[in-house]
Amino acid sequence: MLLKETKEKLLPTLKKYFGYDNFREQQQEIIESVLSKNNNLVIMPTGGGKSICFQLPALLFDGITLVISPLIALMKDQVDGLIANGISAAFYNSSQEKIEQQAIFEKVIKKEIKLVYVAPESLFLLGNILNEEYISCIAIDEAHCISSWGHDFRPSYQQLGFLKKSLPNTPIIALTATADKATRKDILQQLSIPEATQFLASFDRKKIELVVRPANDRVSQIIKFIKNKPNEAGIIYCLSRKSTEQLASKLNQQGIKSEAYHAGLSSEQRTKTQENFIYDKVQVVCATIAFGMGIDKSNVRWVIHYNMPKNIEGYYQEIGRCGRDGIKATALLFHSYGDVIQLRKFASGASNEEVQIAKLERMKQFSEATTCRRKILLGYFGELLSENCGNCDVCNNPPQLFNGTIIAQKALSVITRLKEQEAIGTIIDVLRGAKNATIIDKQYDKLKSHGIGSDISWRDWQQYLVQLINQGYCEIAFHKSNAIQLTPFSKKVLFENEIVNLTRPIAYKEQQAIQKITKPKKAIKDTLFERLRKLRQEIALAENIPAYLVFSDASLKEMERARPLCESDFLDISGVGQRKLEVYGEDFIAEIASFSKEKIKTTKKKDTHKVTYELYKEGFSIDEISKKRNLKSTTIFSHLAKLYTDGKDINIYNFVTKEEVEKVRKTKEILENPNALKPYFEYLNSEVAYFKIRLALTIIANEG
Ligand code: ADP
Ligand code: ZN
Repeated sequence: MLLKETKEKLLPTLKKYFGYDNFREQQQEIIESVLSKNNNLVIMPTGGGKSICFQLPALLFDGITLVISPLIALMKDQVDGLIANGISAAFYNSSQEKIEQQAIFEKVIKKEIKLVYVAPESLFLLGNILNEEYISCIAIDEAHCISSWGHDFRPSYQQLGFLKKSLPNTPIIALTATADKATRKDILQQLSIPEATQFLASFDRKKIELVVRPANDRVSQIIKFIKNKPNEAGIIYCLSRKSTEQLASKLNQQGIKSEAYHAGLSSEQRTKTQENFIYDKVQVVCATIAFGMGIDKSNVRWVIHYNMPKNIEGYYQEIGRCGRDGIKATALLFHSYGDVIQLRKFASGASNEEVQIAKLERMKQFSEATTCRRKILLGYFGELLSENCGNCDVCNNPPQLFNGTIIAQKALSVITRLKEQEAIGTIIDVLRGAKNATIIDKQYDKLKSHGIGSDISWRDWQQYLVQLINQGYCEIAFHKSNAIQLTPFSKKVLFENEIVNLTRPIAYKEQQAIQKITKPKKAIKDTLFERLRKLRQEIALAENIPAYLVFSDASLKEMERARPLCESDFLDISGVGQRKLEVYGEDFIAEIASFSKEKIKTTKKKDTHKVTYELYKEGFSIDEISKKRNLKSTTIFSHLAKLYTDGKDINIYNFVTKEEVEKVRKTKEILENPNALKPYFEYLNSEVAYFKIRLALTIIANEG
């Protein structure tokens, strides 16, 4: 059991050092369990918030927390992040000078340090620090690396079993994003902590929008996508080394700063690219799956899969690299039939071919789904979602079913005529009546069914065929050059008139509409967020740390919304802890203040009516608008009168009744059109307010 006194320290410690007001799901339970000296296994998705589960207890333990981590780059960023939060931390590795190691050593002995990071192969460097006198807790990050079942096995992790033997009373917390059971069991066994408490957090990353698009013309789709998000960093995953390089060069030609990353590059080159990305010096990395572990950068705003991933585990881990800061991010996957074929080829002959192909099949089902994608994804990890997510392309654009029996019959009869010998491309060519060399050579243009589907575009045929395959009306013979063959179901459609339901591919018009929305923006808007981003970048450069370690995008967004102008308001921002307030508070508050002042000036000059109109459209009352704008309500009414005259959509009778208008009209006649409001007011015995008189006159003037 945890002391009440310790428990009460948790939230204040979270705020003071990390700047957050609340724990995320499970974090508090995990932290309490660690502080109660249990052994723990934590399974949380990438970006779920694992680090705090050992970093916060570390602050409350007497001795150090030893963090085992596989990569030097990863350690360095974590240590920089801790230091930026005012937490004393260091890492050990074999490339350090002796003197540096000695300095850390001394700090440990004097208990001046809270966390020490080390790779498993460098544990020996710790010498006699590796002792329960100094060490209070051991965290093992990326713990799946210990298991040869996992996808990231590292032999050096296997020696970690000795830790429990040498430090039997020190609690261990092992953390990973890999959920499968075999790996979990293996981790516990090898670390000799079979009784560890297991925490399985939700895998749902709600803020990541899931989008799948057909791969036609994907390069230009990608260019449009990125140009629409200037300044937003992202990763594009490709299947081959060559395509990472080609894509990066195409993006660079478009003025999008990009670099390629794959295992074939020198290790210096890779480190450099990784650093450029982390430090916001390049916007995009085009990478193979070799890129990503150890990328803690919290402001990756999107991940694109140029090619289809091999399995859902990989896909989920890769998209998890965006939106770690918990704000909106996008995962865009291009689905191509060619990729499926390619991936099947890779799998064939592997020792676990069957497993690989089954996993690929699940990936394919996800890509071709016509129901909520997040449901499918979480279902794969054993988590059931009762409602549709509302943040995937299927939810946002539900497919429309229609009776596609005739389309199916046309396709299946062509497949029959082609004697089940041809792959999808030729089938579509025959359906559309193409007369290319292959068609002529093979005399397919002589077939009766040549051209029976010329009314449907190539792209749509492709999608219909995929749907027919998915519904089992035909299948791909992977071992026969991917020829499309009939199945027992085909007969029902061809001869028994079975009804086939298909979904309509996004119509051309809608596609155009989408393209219109995503038409590249020309310039970056001058928003407070952009100003704060710039300030953050300047500070990051000066301190030589990645920008996201100064403040996350989420914190900047909150500053933009809340506009704190004093220290205590600034401290209320999520992500602002004590040290960041002290070190960066002044600069950020000054920027916010100067931005607000400038904006007030420019709006006064130019668009004061427009600002009122916008607030009015948002549904604010006149009182609220006048408070917000710090203007008298009579001024706001005069804006409304002008807007009404300009033909804007103002519901003017909400503020003045028809009877009042009639009274004013009569007065106007009787007094022969006086040129001030006062005579009206007096004539009407002060019964109609000035602002109403003004509005009534506006209405009358606009009638004529
Ligand atoms: P993981 O290691 O699980 O991939 P991290 O520990 O890197 O994830 O956390 C992801 C992001 O979430 C980081 O930017 C971190 O600062 C942030 N974060 C963690 N816990 C909280 C919290 N309680 N409130 C807000 N943000 C949090
Ligand atoms: Zn959904």
